Amino acid sequence: MFSIGFLEIEWLDIIDVLLVTVLLYQLYKLLTGSVALKIFLGLLSIYLLYLVVKAAGMELLTIILGQFMGVGVLAAIIVFQPEIRRFLLMIGKTTAFNNERLFKSFPWRRSENVDKLSITPFIEAAKSLAGKNTGALIVFARSSELRYFAESGDAIDAMVSKRLLISIFNKNSPLHDGAVIIQGNRIKAARCILPVTESNNVPASMGLRHRAAIGLSEVTDSVVLVVSEETGQISLVRNGEVFRNLSAADLRSKLNHFLFDIEPKVVEKVAAA
Ligand code: ATP
Ligand code: MG
Repeated sequence: MFSIGFLEIEWLDIIDVLLVTVLLYQLYKLLTGSVALKIFLGLLSIYLLYLVVKAAGMELLTIILGQFMGVGVLAAIIVFQPEIRRFLLMIGKTTAFNNERLFKSFPWRRSENVDKLSITPFIEAAKSLAGKNTGALIVFARSSELRYFAESGDAIDAMVSKRLLISIFNKNSPLHDGAVIIQGNRIKAARCILPVTESNNVPASMGLRHRAAIGLSEVTDSVVLVVSEETGQISLVRNGEVFRNLSAADLRSKLNHFLFDIEPKVVEKVAAA
């Protein structure tokens, strides 16, 4: 396209550089604030030391550091495993293949997941649990399967019912800890462990239950219902965004909106008619 001195610059080069910039920025965003950044800087300084030592011709140190660099890539993969995982999940979640609006009309993409689900038991259970200040964490799986998270808990595979939900989250129940995962119209598992968000923008009033809900919604397209044990407030979380202090009516319209794509206005009209 044009050239600076001896450098020939093509369109492709510009796109290449832009893509690398975006990638580096994402990497930076992913790593800031985590221990991984310090490890990364540590590895980088060892590498720089290696270059200096090599240039200076110190043979013994060069060999030792060289050995270290040889397994460096492998070591980095092991050390950064959670970050790499998060990065890949993030990419998988944002690619066009997962864009529901785009692929919704194709029969094979239509999620059987939430089709037959009735949300009334959840609203009633949430109301009842909130009234008794009992904490709850309920995950609605959508296109992401969540098998990995479901396996971290106890498999249940039962029909959804208000009473079952309430008994699971009862403080004396052995299953009340952790999250319940809903897939299709069934309760798949309880006591599941969700990934806790590392975001710094979460209000201090939100503890681990809320942070786990946010964390899962960041890496999957699930919708998470949280009932706070401390305040009895009901919240919904989607895409890392928390909708707090919902009334039963809010909860119904938001769930309808998030799970079945029924716009809130339509619901109101139907109710008014
Ligand atoms: P609350 O308002 O109900 O107190 P909170 O956001 O302040 O909620 P905590 O008080 O820390 O959160 O809640 C702790 C409970 O959250 C635990 O007993 C456990 O059931 C659940 N929990 C904590 N971490 C996770 C996790 N990673 N995955 C699933 N559940 C979790
Ligand atoms: Mg708490």
